[in-house]
Amino acid sequence: MLEILPIPAFKDNYIWLINDGRHAVVVDPGDAGPVIRQLEQTGLTLEAILITHHCHDHIDGVVELISKYPAPVYAPAKESYDFPHIPVADGELITLTETGLKLTVMELPGHTLGHIAYFDYPFLFCGDTLFSCGCGRLHEGTAEQMYQSLQRLAQLPADTRVYCAHEYTLNNLAFALELEPGNMALHKRQQEVIKLRTAGLPSLPTTIGLELATNPFLRSDSTTIKLSLNLEKNTAPVEVFRILREMKNDY
Ligand code: FE
Repeated sequence: MLEILPIPAFKDNYIWLINDGRHAVVVDPGDAGPVIRQLEQTGLTLEAILITHHCHDHIDGVVELISKYPAPVYAPAKESYDFPHIPVADGELITLTETGLKLTVMELPGHTLGHIAYFDYPFLFCGDTLFSCGCGRLHEGTAEQMYQSLQRLAQLPADTRVYCAHEYTLNNLAFALELEPGNMALHKRQQEVIKLRTAGLPSLPTTIGLELATNPFLRSDSTTIKLSLNLEKNTAPVEVFRILREMKNDY
């Protein structure tokens, strides 16, 4: 049985720690300090580090971590890194024998051009691509690329648990509710997330099914959203997505 723990970092990052009680895998360690503390407190042995993309808040703890705990680092083949790593590309399978993880790599350009996710049903680690009720900014890719990347994630089983890298859910929900004030799934989710955050708990993981019901960036074919934006009903979903992403930049 695997347990997945959030290690909060910086203002709103989560470094995910996957463990079986003896070995651990960490995803996007932007800061080494809190990961080292967690490993020391739990006595877990680091088996591997998974990197989704090259932004500093996802990689800056790697060098310190591997100097203390030699472990392989997996990172996107389409990006360059100045630490030793194993480049991985779309469709590759990473087998980690200690934790038993069998992760499939998915290339998801948009936030960055080389961005990848790691999927081992029911777990998805998707960095800054899909957020709960939102999606990553277009730092390097186009709206078309991010739209296609999100559509790929939308095809995963509805009960897939989505571990994204930031706690942005409440702000994302407020934006989504302005577009779909009558969406009851959104209201329910907002109440749940307010309770979780008030208790100091993460709003994550979310699921693909919940995101399909609530995330405007996966719902850009919704007539309600098009009407909220004063768009024609036949506006292409990718165009709706592009407009939503631009609006969210200033929200
Ligand atoms: Fe980030």
